[in-house]
Amino acid sequence: MDMQEKIIKDEILEKMSLENAFKILNDNLFPMLNDEEQGFCKELQEFCLELHPKIDKSKDVYVLFPELGKAGYMQRINKWRDFTPYGMKKEILMALHLSILDPQLELARLASGILCGNPTFHYYHHGGESDEIYKVQDGLLSGQKIGCIGITEPERGSDAVNMLMKCTKTDDGVIYNGEKVFTTNGPKSDYVCTYGVYDEEHPRQTMIQSMISRDFGYETRRLKINSVPRVHIAHTIMNNVKVPKDYILADDGAGYTRLFEGLVPERLGIMGSGVGICWGGLIYGIIYANLRKQFGQQIIKYQGVGFTLADLLSQATAATALALNVATIYDDKVLFAERRSPAAEKWCASVSSQGKYILSKLTNTVCYEVQQACGGITVTDNTPIDEFMDTSKIEEVIGGARNIQLFIIQNLLRRYGRDL
Ligand SMILES: Cc1cc2nc3c(=O)[nH]c(=O)nc-3n(C[C@H](O)[C@H](O)[C@H](O)COP(=O)(O)OP(=O)(O)OC[C@H]3O[C@@H](n4cnc5c(N)ncnc54)[C@H](O)[C@@H]3O)c2cc1C
Repeated sequence: MDMQEKIIKDEILEKMSLENAFKILNDNLFPMLNDEEQGFCKELQEFCLELHPKIDKSKDVYVLFPELGKAGYMQRINKWRDFTPYGMKKEILMALHLSILDPQLELARLASGILCGNPTFHYYHHGGESDEIYKVQDGLLSGQKIGCIGITEPERGSDAVNMLMKCTKTDDGVIYNGEKVFTTNGPKSDYVCTYGVYDEEHPRQTMIQSMISRDFGYETRRLKINSVPRVHIAHTIMNNVKVPKDYILADDGAGYTRLFEGLVPERLGIMGSGVGICWGGLIYGIIYANLRKQFGQQIIKYQGVGFTLADLLSQATAATALALNVATIYDDKVLFAERRSPAAEKWCASVSSQGKYILSKLTNTVCYEVQQACGGITVTDNTPIDEFMDTSKIEEVIGGARNIQLFIIQNLLRRYGRDL
């Protein structure tokens, strides 16, 4: 690991290896997994251990995308090429490992592979016929191209449905005019999957979703976001951007259904990244607290430290069990089901918000508490903990801020005032 100035003792640093982190993870995770899932985790761990020494933290994360693409790790929800196994549970396990490896890489990977990549699968699932989208999909999932999603606008954040991005039909496509913000990967992107409306008074009935190529002429300006310096996040401007028909993924209101179809797997995926940040922060804290001595004793022996770690471990285990369980139900009853269960779909939509709410908040609590429990070294670059801490801040706002998850959950609860 590159450090500006090393103050951590060699004996401790040696033990804070990724290999040891995976040992502790496996003790806590493997009993929850079957043989196939454990095998997939071992593959992921081999991959991470090989990539880890090649990561240069002074460079943007994007140089690593082709490495992920070669292993089929840009996403694992859907079948792409011959990469197996796949499904939501595998996606969660992959996100978990990639977060421990490099939380900023995981953030950008999720935006390209899932937020931009998943709509290409939904397009064909719903009968789309343009071959152009296969090319886009291949570029994104091989890690050769970079994708992003444009939902949020300067004046429409949580109120995303009432968007202002104006679309106008032409004979051979559609013209986009408007702005998006917080477009993760935007400044580096080759494609932005962008939502707009024909009539802002009727967004649900007129929403459209298109895959917009950089060649069509959108502009991106980088926002300065200190906590994730290796990820580029944009203010995206569409000034008369003409999109050919072959790149329209969902038209005339179908964009609205697709928006929500995308948000559920997105939030479940974010749970996976969150699980990884929790374990990453916690495991390195556990190793450090076992080795660091003050007043002649390892600091883990002091209740203020040891009990804090015990409390965090209990919460991390509960959150992990939740994420894995929801992913299993999503795989069995929605993604791979011969006949999708509407009740399960509804439940997964609600639980994706509940889980995203619980987990993204927990990432922050774990990292903050570990830093307070372990002391000064954890706010320097001598341990990976501060990078987990910084990324955790983003986890809670990306994919919808805390209150919007609660808003969705309580909306579902309010039906009991009508339906009973
Ligand atoms: C680093 C980063 C990356 C992101 N990446 C992407 C991306 O790739 N693509 C994309 O489209 N978007 C992205 N987002 C946008 C993200 O989804 C939004 O920030 C989020 O939806 C909230 O919108 P807002 O920030 O405009 O906050 P606002 O909607 O302005 O909300 C401000 C505050 O008010 C609260 N609030 C709003 N409405 C209600 C209500 N009805 N009830 C109670 N409280 C409410 C919110 O919870 C929040 O606390 C990203 C954001 C960040 C910070």
